Amino acid sequence: MTTFDSLPLQPALLASVQTLGYEQMTPVQAQSLPPMLQERDVIAQAQTGSGKTAAFGLALLQSLEASTIRLQALVLCPTRELADQVSKAIRRLAANIPNVKLLTLCGGMPLGPQLASLTHDPHIVVGTPGRVQEHLKRGSLHGGGIRTLVLDEADRMLDMGFSEAIDDIVKRIARHHQTLLFSATWPEAIRAVSQRLQHDPVEVTVEAAPEARPSIEQRFIDVEPARKPEALAQLLATERDQHALVFCNMRRDVDAVAQELDRRGFSALALHGDMEQRDRDEVLVRFANRSCNVLVATDVAARGLDIAALPLVISYDMAHDPDTHTHRIGRTGRAGQAGLAIALCTPREKPKAENLEQVLGTPLSWQALKLAPPRGKTLHLAPMKTLVIDAGRQDKLRPGDILGALTGEAGLGADDVGKIDVFATRAYVAVTRSLANKALERLRAGRIKGRNFRVRPLG
Ligand code: AMP
Repeated sequence: MTTFDSLPLQPALLASVQTLGYEQMTPVQAQSLPPMLQERDVIAQAQTGSGKTAAFGLALLQSLEASTIRLQALVLCPTRELADQVSKAIRRLAANIPNVKLLTLCGGMPLGPQLASLTHDPHIVVGTPGRVQEHLKRGSLHGGGIRTLVLDEADRMLDMGFSEAIDDIVKRIARHHQTLLFSATWPEAIRAVSQRLQHDPVEVTVEAAPEARPSIEQRFIDVEPARKPEALAQLLATERDQHALVFCNMRRDVDAVAQELDRRGFSALALHGDMEQRDRDEVLVRFANRSCNVLVATDVAARGLDIAALPLVISYDMAHDPDTHTHRIGRTGRAGQAGLAIALCTPREKPKAENLEQVLGTPLSWQALKLAPPRGKTLHLAPMKTLVIDAGRQDKLRPGDILGALTGEAGLGADDVGKIDVFATRAYVAVTRSLANKALERLRAGRIKGRNFRVRPLG
């Protein structure tokens, strides 16, 4: 049986599942929920899009006692983006259980406000290992009542060097707890973590049924190194609707490739791991709101990105190893939408392709790319443009205020206003590119709540 009501879940959780419109369990949920609800340790192979968050979210909420003011569940994630996404998902699942307090604690954020919100223990903490460890060490977080520990995207946490922090966290929390480990890949290091931290775990590996597996078309293209920029631009111009993620192996190439694409008329942005959090947020906002159509990133920077199914993922360089390749292509074709993953491969990179072929056990599909003769510059700009307002939640600014200011009398049509993101001290709004100046004028004319906030266009 694969319906949720076949599980011994409390009515409040069944109600949430129903509200969210989940009818059937996904394969990962069907296999992992029964043992998790029996409080067994579970190690599950699960990718983003498999429904893993709801699986461990339901498990940890089922055993939570909201009337006991104590930290009872800890979810560790590799990145802030993922932690935010997981927090949101758990909040939605907990919507029918009164008084559940969940806190997100991530690095890269000031400690002060976190300490202030920790005067009472939350029931659930979702966070990145370094920061959670710091709070446990300081005594601002108390792990003695933890019943469920979740390691989400454990392989990525290890890749990012969080292994020691995780071991130290485990030493600082209740000895008897359930450990749920979710990981897209199971290299030796993951098995070692499981052996160290789990007790007689139930293993869940899901061979996705063909119809459930997102259909991803993979293509490999032979290209000389010097022709890569041209090949990339041509692929972006001809494939799909150009909303694409491009992976480079090296940080320095990320900038160069983004600049080159920009020069060729795309709205391209670079994302690296060591960007300031604010710049990183800004890039992600612009990609998500369609005012940037090509995001160029390293694998590290792209970890945990909360980006909905992308139509196209391109490896500008062949991934160093098959696991990385798998992570990359997992960014496309999510949630039942077909995706396309293209990899550029130079003669020197051929051994990587051969290795991948061996690991996959199926021949790679090669495609010849005929480079078109250069024409004049064609613009492939993103459909939207972002305006940034130097005011945010701290100024009590809400998305509705911005929408209202833009769409009032003789203003923009509602269709010309895209995603609005309000942060603590700034807000971003996407507007139809050709109307950006008009939108800017309206916002500058002091129409947001009658106040004069600084507004400027990005890009
Ligand atoms: P995740 O793998 O946790 O990132 O979840 C992927 C997406 O699937 C999320 O948008 C969930 O809301 C959705 N989802 C999770 N479980 C189910 C389900 N049983 N039926 C339909 N959608 C689901």
